[in-house]
Amino acid sequence: MNGNTLRKTPLLQVKNLKKYFNVNKKKLKAVDGITVDIYAGETLGLVGESGCGKSTVGRTMIRLHTPTEGEVLYKGVNLFSLSEREMMKMRRDIQIIFQDPYASLNPRMTVEEIIGEPFAIHGTLHGKKKRERIKELLNLVGLQSEHMNRFPHEFSGGQRQRIGIARALALEPRFIVCDEPISALDVSIQAQVVNLLKELQQKMGLTYLFIAHDLSMVKYISDRILVMYLGNMVELTDSAHLYDEPLHPYTKALLSAVPIPDPEIKRERIVLKGDVPSPIEPPSGCVFRTRCPEAMDICARVKPTWQEVKLDHYTACHLYE
Ligand code: SF4
Repeated sequence: MNGNTLRKTPLLQVKNLKKYFNVNKKKLKAVDGITVDIYAGETLGLVGESGCGKSTVGRTMIRLHTPTEGEVLYKGVNLFSLSEREMMKMRRDIQIIFQDPYASLNPRMTVEEIIGEPFAIHGTLHGKKKRERIKELLNLVGLQSEHMNRFPHEFSGGQRQRIGIARALALEPRFIVCDEPISALDVSIQAQVVNLLKELQQKMGLTYLFIAHDLSMVKYISDRILVMYLGNMVELTDSAHLYDEPLHPYTKALLSAVPIPDPEIKRERIVLKGDVPSPIEPPSGCVFRTRCPEAMDICARVKPTWQEVKLDHYTACHLYE
């Protein structure tokens, strides 16, 4: 995709999105102020360690969680101001693919029933037409029509994820949250699912938010990547720039863990000390400071500002202020 043409048309605008959960009368700040545009036809990768709030961003954006604060505009319409009924209509355009294809497919339903469920809920297709469309969807994701009468347990993990993708595509959406869709799969299958998602994007003009916990596979599908840490944005830029010239110490550490296929190239592994702090009591100033190899005095006192350090390359770190 050409970044410059894409960037003229934000399909979604996420503005200061916050999601806090109440835990033992305290606030768990899972998402603490995410602002990003997602452009029509692009894949925005959203990356960070487990517990950084990335899945909560995806789920809150499409109202699977109730937001604490902020706005999400889809084609200019604030999703958070829609009634349940209006949101139901909007769900034709906005879908999600889940991490664990086995848990997200009802084991008592046949593939036909699973993929046909959105048509039943929205009352869009019935009888023979519905059956034909289900066959088309199965072919689109690389499965056969004879799979229609089988149950989820009869399939491999990769095939189950294909069924989940077919279901997400049933209503011809424009935007799909891919919530760690490859994390539960074998490495050999991950590439197949990523390639399928790329093919479908081109055929159907889809826009993706692709959530992942490491940077290795995200590069191949994402036009841009947003890195998150403890509910906060730490870096955003084109995939190539993020890999070639990471700015933020956290991104550098994540990248140092990605294997390089060329044995001639050596990259020093940056091992972060300690665990991710609790989002109930995040560190003062920069939330990454307790693990940052480059932390300075100011980092404990002042929260770094999110700013464009190079063209289309944003980060929040005092090293660049
Ligand atoms: Fe490290 Fe300070 Fe930058 Fe935070 S602001 S990433 S602690 S150098």
